[in-house]
Amino acid sequence: MNAVTVPIKTYEYDRPQAGMACTAEAWAKVPSAPEMAERAELKERIRRLLKEKGAVLVAHYYVDADLQDLAEETGGCVSDSLEMARFGRDHPAQTLVVAGVRFMGETAKILSPEKTILMPDLDATCSLDLGCPADEFAAFCDQHPDRTVVVYANTSAAVKARADWMVTSSIGLDIVAELHAQGKKILWAPDRHLGSYIQAKTGADMLLWQGSCLVHDEFKGIELDLLKAEYPNAKVLVHPESPANVVAQADAVGSTTQLINAAQTMDATHFIVATDNGILHKMRIAAPGKTFIEAPTAGNSATCKSCAHCPWMAMNGLRNLAEVLESGANQIHVDPAVGLQAKRAIDRMLDFAAARRAKALPTGKLENNAPMFSGVGPA
Ligand code: SF4
Repeated sequence: MNAVTVPIKTYEYDRPQAGMACTAEAWAKVPSAPEMAERAELKERIRRLLKEKGAVLVAHYYVDADLQDLAEETGGCVSDSLEMARFGRDHPAQTLVVAGVRFMGETAKILSPEKTILMPDLDATCSLDLGCPADEFAAFCDQHPDRTVVVYANTSAAVKARADWMVTSSIGLDIVAELHAQGKKILWAPDRHLGSYIQAKTGADMLLWQGSCLVHDEFKGIELDLLKAEYPNAKVLVHPESPANVVAQADAVGSTTQLINAAQTMDATHFIVATDNGILHKMRIAAPGKTFIEAPTAGNSATCKSCAHCPWMAMNGLRNLAEVLESGANQIHVDPAVGLQAKRAIDRMLDFAAARRAKALPTGKLENNAPMFSGVGPA
């Protein structure tokens, strides 16, 4: 599809098998950035095509800054995966172009099966999704029938179909706290760091799948400590997919939206940010005049795998976005029966969020004043 030669790189990621730590390799092909003149021409073409096709662009905070800007200026959305799901479902456009990774496109299709969902590159995957194959996960669930199955959004449609609840990082803690209050024991997948964080915060009985995010797993606690010494007044913002010794040093822990909100509202001029560096574009817009420093991903003698930028998010570019809009290629398909089953788990989360008035808007704030389980019902 793309006339420009794209180098293919391989990445090692955690791929647990039968509870044992294992690794595997996956590839990504990251397109080169277009030169200034081509960039302007592509952006204009995309604006025109979105209008002509009646399509709306839904982008994640980790994708290229040009794609984020285009989404906002054309009436689309740039957000975390919870708000992307809700926005895509509620928007009247019949074609959604999802700039992110595959599970985000699948979630959009599950919520809006009648809509056409396009993605710039269908091979844009996620190490958490890859590290939790549906058949092995189903066998794991079968071994623990007494547990409520809660899966993170970063999973395939088939894994979501096996779950009672799907959660995102912006609302996972609240949902697990609620399930714990109801006396439920949890089976959690796939991110072990986020699972451990929620377990520590809620005290819930949680059995964890041992997956990890390629990007967040490589933030380093010792080097972060050294960086903090260089910037003693900086606040540390951390995504909870990071290791515990990084989370332990945070002034704010949260989803991408919650971290952007913290950057806006916290009384500091400097911030050390432990999440994908694609978020810095939005942080600089949201909090002009403040300084954002990337958290360290490796020590002096080590090399980083992703260097704080997801190789699969980076597969979304201006060229392949324009091409899919023009051709209508790269449609997301989800088996309707699997989609219907997965939708129950997603709807529970969206119902919970709506009931708590937590629409994942930029405030990231929750209110505790509404009845829960308004739609699908408790799992
Ligand atoms: S940043 Fe991590 S969790 Fe997000 S898509 Fe990439 S590998 Fe998956």
